[in-house]
Amino acid sequence: MDEASAAKEAAASANSAAPTIFDKIIAKEIPSTIVYEDEKVLAFRDVNPQAPVHILLIPKARDGLTQLSKAEFRHSEILGDLLYTAKLVAEKEGLKDGFRVVINDGLDGCQSVYHLHLHLLGGRQLKWPPG
Ligand code: 5GP
Repeated sequence: MDEASAAKEAAASANSAAPTIFDKIIAKEIPSTIVYEDEKVLAFRDVNPQAPVHILLIPKARDGLTQLSKAEFRHSEILGDLLYTAKLVAEKEGLKDGFRVVINDGLDGCQSVYHLHLHLLGGRQLKWPPG
């Protein structure tokens, strides 16, 4: 299945009540390489890295936040925490020449996991615009 078809399938089955693979990562039921953790945020290396540094930052509580377009005002604090943590992790990873933070949303955004997450990418010259 190509990337667009996989995203389409994931979007079609997106359901705020449904757990995702990220819940298993939070619960440490499946292994991941965790680079940062506090009571609200978990950051771990992407299993399919698109850059030398490719880290996912997720809220530990889903709280209905399957994707950015579903965010409500009450999510403002965790959204800010995720962004600030991305900056801390970028520093920790030594990304002194810059990095990129991405949130894929929904079908057109090629989102494949419906638990909101930030991608932190760096360690090489990134291109613009993205595909
Ligand atoms: P999205 O396409 O939803 O923006 O990003 C989901 C990301 O999760 C993808 O980059 C994918 O490689 C990553 N991913 C999916 N399953 C796993 C997993 O089991 N472990 C880790 N570490 N990353 C995963």
